[in-house]
Amino acid sequence: MANQGLLKRLNMARIMDAVRRQDNLHRAAVADMLGLDRKSVTNLATELLQEGWLMETGVRHPRRGRPQIVLGLSRERHYHLGIHISETKVVGLLINLYGEIVSRRETSYAFASSLNQIGQAVDDVFRSLQDIAGTRLQATGLTAPGIIDDQTGRMIRSVNIPALDGVSLRQLIGRHDRGGVVLEEASRAKALAEKWFGQGRHLNSFACVDLGIGIGAGIVTDRRLHTGTNLGEIGHNIIKPGGKICRCGHRGCLEAYISERVICQDIGKCQGGEAQTLAEVGPLCPAAEDVLAQAGFALGLGLAPLINILCPPLIVLSGNLTNFESFVFPEMERGLAQAALPWSRRAVSVKASTFAPDTAAALGAAAAAMNDIFEVTTNT
Ligand SMILES: [Zn+2]
Repeated sequence: MANQGLLKRLNMARIMDAVRRQDNLHRAAVADMLGLDRKSVTNLATELLQEGWLMETGVRHPRRGRPQIVLGLSRERHYHLGIHISETKVVGLLINLYGEIVSRRETSYAFASSLNQIGQAVDDVFRSLQDIAGTRLQATGLTAPGIIDDQTGRMIRSVNIPALDGVSLRQLIGRHDRGGVVLEEASRAKALAEKWFGQGRHLNSFACVDLGIGIGAGIVTDRRLHTGTNLGEIGHNIIKPGGKICRCGHRGCLEAYISERVICQDIGKCQGGEAQTLAEVGPLCPAAEDVLAQAGFALGLGLAPLINILCPPLIVLSGNLTNFESFVFPEMERGLAQAALPWSRRAVSVKASTFAPDTAAALGAAAAAMNDIFEVTTNT
């Protein structure tokens, strides 16, 4: 006998997800779409309307039969907050149920800032958005790059933000007035942003590769993000045995060649300047263009195992490196041609994300917090 409470939550989530995915749905269409009886859908929809999750957005007049009331998600009653801690700033977003950004805050700091400075930035961003959301805030998602212990929420190791090592991430938010705090690793959060609001929203399976200072991957299979403490560390695939030393201690990792910081340093050596991120790099000299092309080739070699092993229909690349598509992508193809099986390569589309990197991570953090409104899993 199914647990009735769980079944109700499951069906409410399915109704919410159907309305989210498709405009102009009315109750009977939702019932037909989900294979549920119309009376159950009417009852559940009434409850969702009363609680402010759904709203009636219009009336359709079919040629025959009674007018049909169109349902939509409520844009203004329930918000989720996403916070991304990066190497140089904290970005926070408040989003509605459609993933539309209601408000954005960010606070910057220098590389290798102390835990105190980072904690203060998290606190500033969180409080300011919490004040805006008020009682509309449902839950908060927090994300940072590194290996996070799924059980305790402690950062086991953040190679790129060492101040976070050993820190209980939920405690960074401290007192929160409404809702819980959900944690997600930054690269996986970007995959969630793509799954809910980006290029993965109509796909069952895809991968998202985060090309930042650290390189990581989030993998979605059958609409489920692969989770676990040690996953997606594609940046530490070795593309050149005995090659450049990586921050993990091994030699020849992908990240040692295409970390945004490494590329910025290499560009700085060619044409001067001290850009911290590729977003700050100005016009490029030919040698700097070569640096980007070489990074593209390394990226192709690094993506090949992902293609050979999983062959996802889509790989979304997220990061400032994709701003230089004309230098990076042709060489990436050359790397893929050398290292990926040709028939596997042909089955995979590789595209740049349409989200700015910081936005994607914070959006994914908020998505992690809103996940079970649209998707209830039976094993939780
Ligand atoms: Zn490494």
